[in-house]
Amino acid sequence: MSNKNNWQSATQLAQIGNNADKQTGAVNTPIYLSTTYAHPELGQSTGFDYTRTANPTRQVLETALAELENGTHGFATSSGMSAIQLVFELFPIGSSFLVSRDLYGGSYRYFNALENKGSYQFEYFDTFEDYQNKINSNYAGIFIETPTNPLMNEVDISLVARLAKEHGCLVIVDNTFLTPIIQKPLDLGADIVIHSATKFLGGHNDLLAGAVITNSTELGEKLAYSLNTNGAVLAPFDCWLLIRGLKTLKLRVNQQEKNAQAVATFLQENSAIQEVFYPGKGSMISFKLKTAQQISTFLSKLQLFTFAESLGSVESLVTYPTTQTHAEIPLELRESYGLTDNLLRLSIGIEDEEDLIEDLRQALEKTS
Ligand SMILES: *Cc1c(COP(=O)(O)O)cnc(C)c1O
Repeated sequence: MSNKNNWQSATQLAQIGNNADKQTGAVNTPIYLSTTYAHPELGQSTGFDYTRTANPTRQVLETALAELENGTHGFATSSGMSAIQLVFELFPIGSSFLVSRDLYGGSYRYFNALENKGSYQFEYFDTFEDYQNKINSNYAGIFIETPTNPLMNEVDISLVARLAKEHGCLVIVDNTFLTPIIQKPLDLGADIVIHSATKFLGGHNDLLAGAVITNSTELGEKLAYSLNTNGAVLAPFDCWLLIRGLKTLKLRVNQQEKNAQAVATFLQENSAIQEVFYPGKGSMISFKLKTAQQISTFLSKLQLFTFAESLGSVESLVTYPTTQTHAEIPLELRESYGLTDNLLRLSIGIEDEEDLIEDLRQALEKTS
């Protein structure tokens, strides 16, 4: 008989919640809307008292999230940003952090807000050499995205983590772009993984959610305490939607990656494109048109790709980071590291690759 602990990821995912409800045998996890739970006797609990602390539907999801990232503790939060906030609550006021430069705009805004009110300090690094020069034991934590957003620079988590350990710094990885199907940061030495589950984990553009996973009991207990205290938990219905999305995560991510590889090859060979940024894995691709003036025509000619922010869902999207996801980052700073206003970002969905390529081809042809 196959042992649950040895299951591969597609099996784990498809089986989320099956056998969780012994009383009815429900194969699909029930949505427990009850906010409060009866105590059998004074001093006794079923394991559930009040839904902010623990909820049966959320527990199924949180167990699955932990397993998926090879962690021991998983937390489902109300958004990706609340997942990031939950992690930063671990640190005392006055802490300093070293962060990968090219960053999700919302995280950059949050770090700036924390710095402006005097809570924490943030320093940014560009390359691994830069990281080596800047790392020291005054930093409480290292926060990285890899590949970076939107320029797709890869950060070597193992190398970063090894140096961080030598200096006693915690390593936090935002794994939204690659998902645990492609990259498992805890296996590479990270202490905490964060996701905007709004993106690939949910996968259908119908859910705002976040996830935090760790393999440290000490951190897990602190995170549980903070989440129960700040209350930014994911609601039961949204937990169920995320469970539903997760069941097909591997299928989706594999198809999206295959499509993205074909699209990236097409873009690299197209003379209307100035530069393509694709790390060879995942399904996020950025590219530069020759001039910023071409952006508006190009976007208006696309028929299949939807011009919208966000990423990771079954539908292919095109984003203009300059005015959408990265508007929070001052122009001069953005341009200094290559985020120029002729850059577009694609999130490749599960459609047929021929249709995606044809849409890009016809739009590029009409863009002069
Ligand atoms: C979207 C995103 C976030 C924020 O998540 P929300 O679910 O929108 O709050 C954080 N990090 C990355 C890399 C993202 O793409």
